[in-house]
Amino acid sequence: MSFIPVNEPLLDGNEKKYLVECIDTGWISSEGPFVKQFEEKFAASVGRRHGIAVSNGTTALDAAICALDIGPGDEVIMPTFTIISCITQIVRAGASPVLIDCDPVTWNMDVSRIEERITPRTRAIMVVHIYGLPTEMDVVLDIAHRHGLKVIEDAAEMLGQTYRGQPCGSFGDLSTFSFYPNKHVTTGEGGMIVTDDEELAERCRSLRNLCFQSERRFVHEELGWNMRMSNLQAALGLAQLERLDEFVARKRAMGRLYSQLLEGLGDVELPLAKADYAENIYWVYGVVLGDRIAFDAKEAMQRLATHGIGSRPFFWPMHEQPVFHRMGLFENERHPVSERIARRGFYLPSGMALSDEQITRSAEALKEILN
Ligand SMILES: *Cc1c(COP(=O)(O)O)cnc(C)c1O
Repeated sequence: MSFIPVNEPLLDGNEKKYLVECIDTGWISSEGPFVKQFEEKFAASVGRRHGIAVSNGTTALDAAICALDIGPGDEVIMPTFTIISCITQIVRAGASPVLIDCDPVTWNMDVSRIEERITPRTRAIMVVHIYGLPTEMDVVLDIAHRHGLKVIEDAAEMLGQTYRGQPCGSFGDLSTFSFYPNKHVTTGEGGMIVTDDEELAERCRSLRNLCFQSERRFVHEELGWNMRMSNLQAALGLAQLERLDEFVARKRAMGRLYSQLLEGLGDVELPLAKADYAENIYWVYGVVLGDRIAFDAKEAMQRLATHGIGSRPFFWPMHEQPVFHRMGLFENERHPVSERIARRGFYLPSGMALSDEQITRSAEALKEILN
């Protein structure tokens, strides 16, 4: 029996055709025409005025933090249950991340805890939509508005999802995406920043391109990065974006099939199908082992592997990262919900190329290892 990988992308649209066009025309760098086309179409797809294509989702977040001038003395409120990409530039810039636990059902930042963590030094709230349901944006936007805070929205896992009918990625002063192969649209490696603010867009474009100046190219007023996306990557992105609606429908169908097959499994928490503000998009199909199950996620994933099923653990909370403890950060913090799901949660194969037959095999294997 063949092994079912946790992710396999689907590249059978216009990907090859557009890549061949890059090679035939010789346009392979970030100067090529697909980059601008991809930026424009992508920004329009999430209802934003500007799109700035970058090298990956992590650099998109780095640029966003830098563009908002977040630095020493500033505090940024963010979830502890997320990927390291969200926090690195905040720490490197000398600002302070202020961590919030997650909701036990949606796994998103518990927005009812934001306001108590606001101080005179708070500059921004970073929202990260996790696994399939968006964060409760009404609450976040209301708090941000009342306290004069910026909003950074990491929508890497939520391309094609909406919150009360508005696209995810349309809510932040700056919103970011990733095009890693497990995301809804992939460019191999890649990312995007979107915004409606002309000035912030210009700043992100400059930071992406080493802060070269148009007047005198090799004279710099500021330090940037090379975060440029190549024409080859944008060619893939354009072809993928053409199929976004189809991809999203497929993801939802995959999630529903998993839930149907795993219903009544007993002491295992499955993703919430629907909140009153959104229907789950199942970027990944995550499960959390109940407390009556004698083993943890690590053991479950090992058992699944012996059945030929790939899986991945949930995020490890930021306040439990050894690298931050060594810096003297978060040492005595406790965020019990995140700590629990980090130890008891994992996700099943969820890639775009996954077949119904593979979903059925994965679900059967999960049932077997729990018996
Ligand atoms: C994938 C992901 C990132 C990082 O994107 P890369 O392109 O891998 O750098 C950031 N945030 C979230 C929520 C993600 O899922």
